[in-house]
Amino acid sequence: MNQRRIFIKNTLIAGAAASFSPSFLMSATRTNKEKLGVALVGLGYYSTDLLAPALQLTEHCELKGIVTGSPEKIPVWQEKYGIQDKNIYNYENFDSIANNEEIDIIYVVLPPSMHMEYTVRAANAGKHVWCEKPMATSVEECTTMINACKSNGVKLAIGYRCQHDPNIQAYMKVAKERPFGKVKMITSAAGYFDGRTDHWKQKKDLGGGAMGDMGVYALQGARLATGEEPISVLAQASSTRPEIYHEVEETMMFQLEFPSGALASCQTSFGIQMNHLHVNYEKGWLKMEPHSSYNGNKGSMSDGTIINFSINSQQAKQMDEDAWSIKNNQNMLVPGEEGLRDIRVVEAIYKSARQNCVVKL
Ligand code: NAD
Repeated sequence: MNQRRIFIKNTLIAGAAASFSPSFLMSATRTNKEKLGVALVGLGYYSTDLLAPALQLTEHCELKGIVTGSPEKIPVWQEKYGIQDKNIYNYENFDSIANNEEIDIIYVVLPPSMHMEYTVRAANAGKHVWCEKPMATSVEECTTMINACKSNGVKLAIGYRCQHDPNIQAYMKVAKERPFGKVKMITSAAGYFDGRTDHWKQKKDLGGGAMGDMGVYALQGARLATGEEPISVLAQASSTRPEIYHEVEETMMFQLEFPSGALASCQTSFGIQMNHLHVNYEKGWLKMEPHSSYNGNKGSMSDGTIINFSINSQQAKQMDEDAWSIKNNQNMLVPGEEGLRDIRVVEAIYKSARQNCVVKL
């Protein structure tokens, strides 16, 4: 089935940013624009290779601005996407984006330790916020982000593109309708080999580590396939390249126990390519592989059902659906609260790995 057109569906930074906030709320929350203006903050791999190209395909939003600390990137982006001088910001003058009516949404695509600061500053500037996963590095930061968006009357969505993918929605539906009875056991894995040696993904203070990066996909697999929140975790962190992964884990294995009795065995790694979800129910099974890719996610079920929806661009679909929800004042499909649910479990996983014991949630 072609799903190409499925749209129908603070404190820390309060200082500079707060002074812009209340008078600009209306510009973000009341708009008749056909396409909402998006500004990408952080022009690294994901913005450059995935989000900016996807924003050329969207119907409800468009790339209007950039926020970057690398001046050499500006002419490249201007040439490619026709971004006007007045819609270009750096990290210092970012708060003045509050005065820019062409920008409705700020998409935070920075290392995780910076997500809270830029989400709060964007919210204080009266802009809706999309923030990449992992939402932040602690529950406390997530809560601050949610509160900042609430108090500024703007919406917050987390960039869990997979939840917009009909292939993932297919097993979320199984969790809801239970055609095979209760979930008994899940195996969920997400990882790749990262050959870099000096990147934020290897640095603790920037929010690195496999768990927050790829681990959230394995965790989402287990949470979405059960439709439940884990009640306990047991985790083990390891590194086969300690010369690179000494501040953060290269690999995390974690087990989850759910209220219904369902169990999950999950793995994530920066050293191992893996991408699958297996669910054993009382009376059947479901397998997805790949499970959390940008495209081509597919699977099958024990009753012969094939899951294989094609979508043109997962990121375009995500941003279009989120922009549509903002235009129509609807709830975000993946709100900040969903990002927080994962980080709550991630915190428990780290605690379990550190203390080498089961952590109750
Ligand atoms: P990246 O390293 O390629 O880009 C990070 C950007 O942040 C760069 O432009 C860099 O200049 C900028 N930056 C600003 N201050 C920095 C600092 N102190 N240290 C390092 N970089 C700094 O990273 P990326 O892969 O684009 O990831 C960015 C975010 O997007 C992360 O949260 C990541 O998890 C997320 N991401 C999501 C997906 C997805 O599928 N949803 C895929 C890739 C990345």
